[in-house]
Amino acid sequence: MADLPSYFVGLDIGGTTVKSVIVNSNGEQVGDLVEVRSHVKNGYEATFAQLDSAIDQLTANAGVTKEAVRGIGLDVPAPSSDGVIWGRANLGDDWVGTDIRGKYMERTGIPVFMTNDGNAAALGEYALRLKHLGSLLLIAPGTGLGGGLVLPGGRSYEGANGLALEVGHISVPFREDDGELPQCSCGLKGCAEAWVSLVALRRRVGLELAKPENADHPLNQGDTTIEEKAFQLRDYAAKGDPLAVGIFKQQGFILGYAIADLVRVFDPGLVVIGGGLAETSFRDLYMEWIMDGFKDRAWPVYLRSPLDPEKITTQFQWAIGGDAAAAVGMAYTARELFQ
Ligand SMILES: [Zn+2]
Repeated sequence: MADLPSYFVGLDIGGTTVKSVIVNSNGEQVGDLVEVRSHVKNGYEATFAQLDSAIDQLTANAGVTKEAVRGIGLDVPAPSSDGVIWGRANLGDDWVGTDIRGKYMERTGIPVFMTNDGNAAALGEYALRLKHLGSLLLIAPGTGLGGGLVLPGGRSYEGANGLALEVGHISVPFREDDGELPQCSCGLKGCAEAWVSLVALRRRVGLELAKPENADHPLNQGDTTIEEKAFQLRDYAAKGDPLAVGIFKQQGFILGYAIADLVRVFDPGLVVIGGGLAETSFRDLYMEWIMDGFKDRAWPVYLRSPLDPEKITTQFQWAIGGDAAAAVGMAYTARELFQ
Protein backbone atom coordinates (compact mmCIF):
# COMPACT_ATOMS: atom_id res chain seq x y z
CA MET A 1 0.00 0.00 0.00
CA ALA A 2 2.82 2.39 0.84
CA ASP A 3 3.86 2.46 -2.82
CA LEU A 4 0.51 3.69 -4.05
CA PRO A 5 0.12 7.47 -4.42
CA SER A 6 -2.04 9.21 -1.82
CA TYR A 7 -4.42 12.03 -2.61
CA PHE A 8 -6.77 14.08 -0.44
CA VAL A 9 -9.97 15.84 -1.45
CA GLY A 10 -11.55 19.01 -0.08
CA LEU A 11 -15.29 19.48 -0.67
CA ASP A 12 -16.96 22.78 0.21
CA ILE A 13 -20.75 22.48 0.08
CA GLY A 14 -22.35 25.88 -0.49
CA GLY A 15 -25.97 26.92 -0.97
CA THR A 16 -25.73 26.69 -4.76
CA THR A 17 -22.41 25.06 -5.65
CA VAL A 18 -19.86 22.57 -4.36
CA LYS A 19 -16.29 23.77 -4.74
CA SER A 20 -13.62 21.10 -4.61
CA VAL A 21 -9.87 20.57 -4.89
CA ILE A 22 -7.49 17.63 -4.71
CA VAL A 23 -3.98 17.68 -3.23
CA ASN A 24 -1.17 15.14 -3.36
CA SER A 25 0.75 13.70 -0.40
CA ASN A 26 2.97 16.82 -0.34
CA GLY A 27 -0.11 19.02 0.01
CA GLU A 28 0.27 20.44 -3.49
CA GLN A 29 -2.97 21.13 -5.35
CA VAL A 30 -3.26 19.09 -8.54
CA GLY A 31 -5.36 20.61 -11.30
CA ASP A 32 -7.90 23.39 -10.99
CA LEU A 33 -10.81 23.95 -8.65
CA VAL A 34 -13.80 21.85 -9.73
CA GLU A 35 -17.25 23.33 -9.25
CA VAL A 36 -20.58 21.48 -9.49
CA ARG A 37 -24.17 22.37 -8.48
CA SER A 38 -24.88 21.51 -4.83
CA HIS A 39 -28.63 20.68 -4.98
CA VAL A 40 -28.76 21.08 -1.17
CA LYS A 41 -32.49 21.88 -1.25
CA ASN A 42 -33.16 18.45 -2.77
CA GLY A 43 -31.72 16.66 0.25
CA TYR A 44 -28.40 15.18 1.19
CA GLU A 45 -28.58 12.16 -1.14
CA ALA A 46 -28.89 14.48 -4.15
CA THR A 47 -25.86 16.42 -2.88
CA PHE A 48 -23.86 13.23 -2.25
CA ALA A 49 -24.32 12.35 -5.94
CA GLN A 50 -22.86 15.77 -6.80
CA LEU A 51 -19.91 15.18 -4.44
CA ASP A 52 -19.24 11.86 -6.18
CA SER A 53 -19.25 13.66 -9.52
CA ALA A 54 -16.80 16.28 -8.19
CA ILE A 55 -14.45 13.53 -6.96
CA ASP A 56 -14.67 11.79 -10.36
CA GLN A 57 -13.64 15.01 -12.09
CA LEU A 58 -10.85 15.76 -9.61
CA THR A 59 -9.32 12.31 -9.85
CA ALA A 60 -9.61 12.35 -13.65
CA ASN A 61 -7.83 15.73 -13.77
CA ALA A 62 -5.10 14.37 -11.48
CA GLY A 63 -4.83 11.23 -13.61
CA VAL A 64 -5.44 8.88 -10.67
CA THR A 65 -8.19 6.46 -9.68
CA LYS A 66 -10.62 7.03 -6.80
CA GLU A 67 -8.72 4.36 -4.83
CA ALA A 68 -5.83 6.84 -4.47
CA VAL A 69 -8.04 9.17 -2.38
CA ARG A 70 -7.14 8.47 1.25
CA GLY A 71 -9.16 11.14 2.97
CA ILE A 72 -11.90 13.70 2.44
CA GLY A 73 -12.48 17.03 4.16
CA LEU A 74 -16.11 18.14 3.91
CA ASP A 75 -17.63 21.40 5.02
CA VAL A 76 -21.28 22.38 5.23
CA PRO A 77 -23.00 25.80 5.33
CA ALA A 78 -24.69 25.05 8.64
CA PRO A 79 -23.83 24.58 12.30
CA SER A 80 -22.82 20.99 12.89
CA SER A 81 -21.56 18.87 15.73
CA ASP A 82 -19.63 15.61 15.24
CA GLY A 83 -20.74 15.28 11.64
CA VAL A 84 -24.41 15.99 12.41
CA ILE A 85 -26.08 19.25 11.34
CA TRP A 86 -28.21 20.72 14.11
CA GLY A 87 -29.37 24.03 12.61
CA ARG A 88 -31.47 24.38 9.44
CA ALA A 89 -29.62 27.13 7.59
CA ASN A 90 -30.51 27.02 3.90
CA LEU A 91 -30.65 23.29 3.35
CA GLY A 92 -33.40 20.78 2.59
CA ASP A 93 -35.22 19.26 5.57
CA ASP A 94 -33.50 15.88 5.72
CA TRP A 95 -30.05 17.31 6.49
CA VAL A 96 -30.84 18.23 10.07
CA GLY A 97 -30.21 15.51 12.63
CA THR A 98 -28.63 13.19 10.06
CA ASP A 99 -25.13 11.75 10.51
CA ILE A 100 -23.90 13.33 7.27
CA ARG A 101 -20.25 12.49 7.88
CA GLY A 102 -21.04 8.85 8.73
CA LYS A 103 -23.31 8.42 5.72
CA TYR A 104 -20.81 9.89 3.27
CA MET A 105 -18.00 7.81 4.76
CA GLU A 106 -20.17 4.70 4.32
CA ARG A 107 -20.99 5.65 0.73
CA THR A 108 -17.36 6.29 -0.30
CA GLY A 109 -15.43 3.96 1.99
CA ILE A 110 -13.02 6.86 2.58
CA PRO A 111 -12.39 8.57 5.96
CA VAL A 112 -14.19 11.93 6.20
CA PHE A 113 -13.55 14.97 8.37
CA MET A 114 -16.48 17.39 8.56
CA THR A 115 -16.82 20.93 9.89
CA ASN A 116 -18.69 24.14 9.08
CA ASP A 117 -17.76 26.58 6.31
CA GLY A 118 -16.26 29.18 8.69
CA ASN A 119 -13.75 26.74 10.16
CA ALA A 120 -13.00 25.40 6.67
CA ALA A 121 -12.21 28.86 5.28
CA ALA A 122 -10.01 29.60 8.32
CA LEU A 123 -8.08 26.37 7.65
CA GLY A 124 -7.72 27.38 3.99
CA GLU A 125 -6.33 30.80 4.88
CA TYR A 126 -3.89 29.08 7.24
CA ALA A 127 -2.82 26.52 4.62
CA LEU A 128 -2.20 29.28 2.05
CA ARG A 129 0.10 31.21 4.42
CA LEU A 130 3.02 28.81 4.26
CA LYS A 131 5.21 30.82 6.61
CA HIS A 132 2.54 31.43 9.24
CA LEU A 133 2.98 29.13 12.22
CA GLY A 134 0.93 30.88 14.91
CA SER A 135 -2.83 30.89 15.30
CA LEU A 136 -5.27 32.57 12.93
CA LEU A 137 -8.73 33.99 13.54
CA LEU A 138 -10.87 34.33 10.42
CA ILE A 139 -13.87 36.65 10.43
CA ALA A 140 -16.00 36.46 7.31
CA PRO A 141 -18.93 38.84 6.80
CA GLY A 142 -21.23 37.37 4.16
CA THR A 143 -24.90 36.41 4.23
CA GLY A 144 -24.23 35.94 7.95
CA LEU A 145 -21.10 36.61 10.00
CA GLY A 146 -18.96 33.48 10.12
CA GLY A 147 -15.56 32.72 11.49
CA GLY A 148 -13.07 30.12 12.57
CA LEU A 149 -9.96 29.76 14.70
CA VAL A 150 -6.90 27.76 13.66
CA LEU A 151 -4.47 26.89 16.43
CA PRO A 152 -0.66 26.81 16.06
CA GLY A 153 0.13 23.65 14.11
CA GLY A 154 -2.88 23.97 11.83
CA ARG A 155 -5.93 22.42 13.50
CA SER A 156 -9.20 24.29 13.79
CA TYR A 157 -10.63 24.76 17.26
CA GLU A 158 -13.96 22.94 17.04
CA GLY A 159 -14.93 22.98 20.71
CA ALA A 160 -15.98 19.99 22.80
CA ASN A 161 -19.18 19.57 20.78
CA GLY A 162 -18.24 21.27 17.52
CA LEU A 163 -20.10 24.35 18.71
CA ALA A 164 -17.21 26.80 19.03
CA LEU A 165 -16.53 30.02 17.09
CA GLU A 166 -20.11 31.11 16.45
CA VAL A 167 -18.55 34.56 16.23
CA GLY A 168 -21.57 36.22 14.64
CA HIS A 169 -23.62 35.83 17.79
CA ILE A 170 -21.51 37.56 20.41
CA SER A 171 -23.45 40.55 21.68
CA VAL A 172 -22.46 44.11 20.88
CA PRO A 173 -23.84 47.18 22.70
CA PHE A 174 -25.12 49.07 19.67
CA ARG A 175 -28.72 50.18 19.26
CA GLU A 176 -30.94 51.37 16.45
CA ASP A 177 -32.05 55.01 16.33
CA ASP A 178 -35.17 54.04 18.31
CA GLY A 179 -33.03 52.62 21.12
CA GLU A 180 -33.82 48.97 20.33
CA LEU A 181 -31.29 46.19 19.84
CA PRO A 182 -31.59 44.77 16.29
CA GLN A 183 -33.16 41.35 15.83
CA CYS A 184 -30.73 38.62 14.73
CA SER A 185 -31.71 35.74 12.45
CA CYS A 186 -30.77 33.34 15.30
CA GLY A 187 -33.65 34.59 17.44
CA LEU A 188 -31.56 36.70 19.81
CA LYS A 189 -31.19 40.46 19.79
CA GLY A 190 -28.04 42.56 19.60
CA CYS A 191 -25.76 39.98 17.94
CA ALA A 192 -22.80 41.24 15.90
CA GLU A 193 -24.35 39.49 12.88
CA ALA A 194 -27.41 41.72 13.20
CA TRP A 195 -25.07 44.59 12.21
CA VAL A 196 -22.43 42.92 10.06
CA SER A 197 -23.98 40.70 7.39
CA LEU A 198 -25.90 40.95 4.13
CA VAL A 199 -29.14 40.59 6.09
CA ALA A 200 -28.10 43.51 8.31
CA LEU A 201 -27.13 45.56 5.27
CA ARG A 202 -30.63 45.18 3.82
CA ARG A 203 -32.18 46.37 7.06
CA ARG A 204 -29.82 49.36 7.32
CA VAL A 205 -30.45 50.40 3.71
CA GLY A 206 -34.21 50.21 4.28
CA LEU A 207 -34.00 52.33 7.45
CA GLU A 208 -31.71 54.94 5.92
CA LEU A 209 -33.70 55.29 2.70
CA ALA A 210 -36.89 55.81 4.73
CA LYS A 211 -35.44 58.96 6.33
CA PRO A 212 -36.84 62.22 4.87
CA GLU A 213 -33.35 63.63 4.21
CA ASN A 214 -32.62 60.67 1.92
CA ALA A 215 -35.84 60.94 -0.11
CA ASP A 216 -33.91 62.15 -3.17
CA HIS A 217 -31.22 59.47 -2.99
CA PRO A 218 -30.86 57.65 -6.33
CA LEU A 219 -31.58 54.33 -4.56
CA ASN A 220 -35.04 55.71 -3.70
CA GLN A 221 -35.85 56.20 -7.39
CA GLY A 222 -37.48 53.41 -9.38
CA ASP A 223 -38.86 50.22 -7.89
CA THR A 224 -35.82 48.03 -7.24
CA THR A 225 -36.09 45.48 -4.43
CA ILE A 226 -34.31 45.97 -1.11
CA GLU A 227 -32.08 42.99 -2.03
CA GLU A 228 -30.99 44.76 -5.19
CA LYS A 229 -30.46 48.05 -3.35
CA ALA A 230 -28.25 46.33 -0.76
CA PHE A 231 -26.35 44.69 -3.61
CA GLN A 232 -25.75 48.06 -5.28
CA LEU A 233 -24.57 49.63 -2.04
CA ARG A 234 -20.95 48.54 -2.58
CA ASP A 235 -20.79 50.37 -5.91
CA TYR A 236 -22.22 53.47 -4.27
CA ALA A 237 -19.68 53.24 -1.44
CA ALA A 238 -16.88 52.82 -3.98
CA LYS A 239 -18.03 56.11 -5.59
CA GLY A 240 -18.02 57.86 -2.22
CA ASP A 241 -21.80 58.17 -1.82
CA PRO A 242 -22.27 59.46 1.77
CA LEU A 243 -25.24 57.20 2.61
CA ALA A 244 -23.45 54.05 1.44
CA VAL A 245 -20.15 55.08 3.03
CA GLY A 246 -21.97 55.81 6.31
CA ILE A 247 -23.53 52.34 6.41
CA PHE A 248 -20.24 50.52 5.70
CA LYS A 249 -18.36 52.78 8.10
CA GLN A 250 -20.75 51.88 10.91
CA GLN A 251 -20.58 48.20 9.94
CA GLY A 252 -16.77 48.21 9.90
CA PHE A 253 -16.61 49.96 13.25
CA ILE A 254 -18.94 47.44 14.91
CA LEU A 255 -17.01 44.57 13.31
CA GLY A 256 -13.74 45.90 14.74
CA TYR A 257 -15.36 46.38 18.11
CA ALA A 258 -16.56 42.76 18.14
CA ILE A 259 -13.15 41.51 16.96
CA ALA A 260 -11.54 43.28 19.94
CA ASP A 261 -13.48 41.04 22.32
CA LEU A 262 -12.56 37.92 20.35
CA VAL A 263 -8.89 38.95 20.33
CA ARG A 264 -9.05 39.52 24.08
CA VAL A 265 -10.22 35.92 24.49
CA PHE A 266 -8.05 34.15 21.89
CA ASP A 267 -5.04 36.47 21.30
CA PRO A 268 -4.66 34.97 17.81
CA GLY A 269 -1.85 37.26 16.59
CA LEU A 270 -3.36 37.26 13.10
CA VAL A 271 -6.90 38.28 12.20
CA VAL A 272 -7.96 37.58 8.61
CA ILE A 273 -11.00 39.35 7.21
CA GLY A 274 -12.76 37.25 4.57
CA GLY A 275 -16.07 37.43 2.75
CA GLY A 276 -16.95 39.49 -0.30
CA LEU A 277 -15.62 42.76 1.14
CA ALA A 278 -12.09 41.51 0.50
CA GLU A 279 -12.84 42.07 -3.21
CA THR A 280 -14.15 45.65 -2.99
CA SER A 281 -12.27 48.71 -4.24
CA PHE A 282 -12.80 50.53 -0.94
CA ARG A 283 -11.42 47.75 1.21
CA ASP A 284 -8.51 49.86 2.52
CA LEU A 285 -11.03 52.34 3.90
CA TYR A 286 -13.13 49.51 5.29
CA MET A 287 -10.06 48.12 7.10
CA GLU A 288 -9.51 51.59 8.62
CA TRP A 289 -13.07 51.53 9.94
CA ILE A 290 -12.49 48.08 11.39
CA MET A 291 -9.35 49.38 13.10
CA ASP A 292 -11.30 52.38 14.48
CA GLY A 293 -13.73 50.00 16.16
CA PHE A 294 -10.96 47.68 17.30
CA LYS A 295 -8.96 50.53 18.89
CA ASP A 296 -12.09 51.78 20.63
CA ARG A 297 -12.46 48.48 22.50
CA ALA A 298 -9.05 46.74 22.58
CA TRP A 299 -6.38 47.64 25.12
CA PRO A 300 -3.22 49.12 23.52
CA VAL A 301 -1.34 45.89 24.33
CA TYR A 302 -3.42 44.17 21.61
CA LEU A 303 -2.01 46.65 19.08
CA ARG A 304 1.65 46.87 20.04
CA SER A 305 3.85 45.08 22.52
CA PRO A 306 4.70 47.23 25.58
CA LEU A 307 8.07 45.43 25.70
CA ASP A 308 8.90 46.08 22.05
CA PRO A 309 6.94 48.97 20.49
CA GLU A 310 8.05 47.82 17.03
CA LYS A 311 6.15 44.58 17.50
CA ILE A 312 2.54 44.54 16.33
CA THR A 313 0.65 42.13 18.57
CA THR A 314 -2.43 41.71 16.37
CA GLN A 315 -1.94 41.71 12.61
CA PHE A 316 -4.94 42.32 10.35
CA GLN A 317 -4.92 40.94 6.80
CA TRP A 318 -7.44 40.46 4.03
CA ALA A 319 -8.26 36.89 3.02
CA ILE A 320 -6.20 35.59 0.08
CA GLY A 321 -8.02 32.33 -0.70
CA GLY A 322 -11.10 33.83 -2.35
CA ASP A 323 -13.89 31.40 -3.18
CA ALA A 324 -11.55 28.41 -2.97
CA ALA A 325 -10.40 28.95 0.64
CA ALA A 326 -12.79 26.49 2.28
CA ALA A 327 -12.15 23.69 -0.24
CA VAL A 328 -8.38 24.21 0.10
CA GLY A 329 -8.72 24.13 3.90
CA MET A 330 -10.62 20.87 3.75
CA ALA A 331 -8.08 19.18 1.45
CA TYR A 332 -5.26 20.43 3.68
CA THR A 333 -6.97 19.07 6.80
CA ALA A 334 -7.79 15.72 5.19
CA ARG A 335 -4.08 15.35 4.41
CA GLU A 336 -3.10 16.36 7.95
CA LEU A 337 -5.51 13.84 9.48
CA PHE A 338 -5.45 10.88 7.10
CA GLN A 339 -1.94 10.91 5.59
ZN1 LIG B 1 -27.52 35.89 16.60
